[in-house]
Amino acid sequence: MYDTDNIFAKILRGEVACDIVYEDEKVLFFDDVNPTSKIHILGIPKMEVLDFGDFISKAAPETVNHFFCKSYDIVKEKKINKTGFRIITNSGEHGGQEVPHFHIHIHGGEKLYRGI
Ligand code: 5GP
Repeated sequence: MYDTDNIFAKILRGEVACDIVYEDEKVLFFDDVNPTSKIHILGIPKMEVLDFGDFISKAAPETVNHFFCKSYDIVKEKKINKTGFRIITNSGEHGGQEVPHFHIHIHGGEKLYRGI
């Protein structure tokens, strides 16, 4: 069950501030408040979806396409498409998901190391 009190829901309602990177009627991208790489951007759809599986199951194909295409637009705008980047999503307890609203992390701007 989606928790409407999660921090990203509050950001979407304008109750909590964030540094916006890109926004339209379907998606919001903003800087992570606790970045773990030089560039660390979070991307969320403007839908009440818990995690990756929920998003893929509930969103229209064009919404999924829009979300991931916008992610790559941002990668290009930040000029990390050539140097390299990492897009991840944490899902559920084993995946280490902390905020129960589907989101991706875009990391880049420096050499990223592997880690589980
Ligand atoms: P998760 O572990 O769920 O994949 O990632 C949640 C991310 O949200 C973390 O990287 C964390 O730093 C970020 N985060 C948590 N609360 C806030 C907030 O209030 N504002 C912003 N901008 N990021 C947040």
